[in-house]
Amino acid sequence: MSNETLQAVRGMNDILPDEAELWLWFEDVVRAWLESYGYRNIRMPLLEPTALFKRAIGEVTDIVEKEMYSFADELNGDLLTLRPEGTASCVRAALQHNLLYNAPQRLYYSGAMFRHERPQKGRYRQFHQIGVEALGFAGPDIDAEMILMCARLWRKLGIRDVALQINTLGDTAARHRHREKLIAYFERHKDALDADAMRRLHSNPLRILDSKNPAMQELVAAAPKLMDELEDEALQHFAAVQAILKRHEVAFEINTRLVRGLDYYNRTVFEWVTTRLGAQGTVCAGGRFDGLFGQLGGKPAPACGFAMGIERLLALLREDGMENPPAPLDVYLVHQGELADKLAGVAAEQLRDAGLRVLLHCGGGGFKSQMKKADASNACCAVIIGDDEARAGQATLKPLRGGEQVCVALGELPGRIHELVKQ
Ligand code: ATP
Ligand code: MG
Repeated sequence: MSNETLQAVRGMNDILPDEAELWLWFEDVVRAWLESYGYRNIRMPLLEPTALFKRAIGEVTDIVEKEMYSFADELNGDLLTLRPEGTASCVRAALQHNLLYNAPQRLYYSGAMFRHERPQKGRYRQFHQIGVEALGFAGPDIDAEMILMCARLWRKLGIRDVALQINTLGDTAARHRHREKLIAYFERHKDALDADAMRRLHSNPLRILDSKNPAMQELVAAAPKLMDELEDEALQHFAAVQAILKRHEVAFEINTRLVRGLDYYNRTVFEWVTTRLGAQGTVCAGGRFDGLFGQLGGKPAPACGFAMGIERLLALLREDGMENPPAPLDVYLVHQGELADKLAGVAAEQLRDAGLRVLLHCGGGGFKSQMKKADASNACCAVIIGDDEARAGQATLKPLRGGEQVCVALGELPGRIHELVKQ
């Protein structure tokens, strides 16, 4: 057996305690925000049948072609994939459990997603998303609600400098007409296509419009526009979304080249983008996916959703000088002596009964070295118990952020500490 130290998989990060405190703070804010709009939590497995993502996301997409962690279960040969996104699983769960039977559902989930991409700043192989899905809603009001909620979250988090881009992808018939025209157009300019575009010409020509190759930009800019094919109903839907955004004074830009990397989208799509994170500037993205329920073999249902990348949002907060919130701790309990050690354990439990966060010193050592640890902790006070105090049923209460230490009867400790914590 090798003695080499093992490392985490490339692109998959440990989130260490200092950093995790920011995550916890963020998750608290997000949860309160989601509840304020009536969204309810759902939790799906991290592993799903590979076929789910192929059917939902589309065979000719970056995710399915080259980013999925897929493998055959060694025990029974089942083809499985670590989820690269949450919408497919969420819709699968809604169908499997008949969630839309009585009423549409506003749902959210949070967790790890896996994509085999080249790791770089803001792009990891295990990353985390908050996903928000409104299932069973057809109207433009829900599309707008989702965008408005994002705007509110940015305000709550104190994030500025994220710009909203929106577009409409229309419905199936218009997209089909557009697709035919695109194929004909790119066929006429075959010699100007790069290898990626050639491969997609017949399988997924819409994705050619998403090309980042500078040499193709001119060709892409002059390609037939989906906007010219859109039917009245889809245009009215899009106009209604815009009207609501304007009423709420949410600024947006219409980006007709916004097509999104997953096949299931139709009508409204949107992205929130910042210029402050380099190339990985999209912090949140989503749109409508009215066809997905049918595509997964279920009773058709309209739906809309979005996902935000937690790593990118936290990076943006750090760019803005956001510091790690302090470790949450009220009391560091210092104790030395045979009787004191016994009493300290009991006192710590009593303080916790009173709702306080208590770190009971473990591992022995003198008062001096224990007090050093208390000073270095984030506690707002130290409670010190020696054998003399223990015999008298008392403790020394020492505020750690300024103030005189006092001798307090054990029974009065919780009240005195609560006063200190409030300061
Ligand atoms: P990109 O164009 O940056 O690859 P995407 O369109 O593939 O993003 P979505 O599938 O829409 O991303 O996922 C929603 C959000 O999840 C993104 O806007 C981003 O914030 C985040 N995200 C996607 N892929 C990654 C990744 N590999 N690492 C970190 N965050 C990611
Ligand atoms: Mg991507």
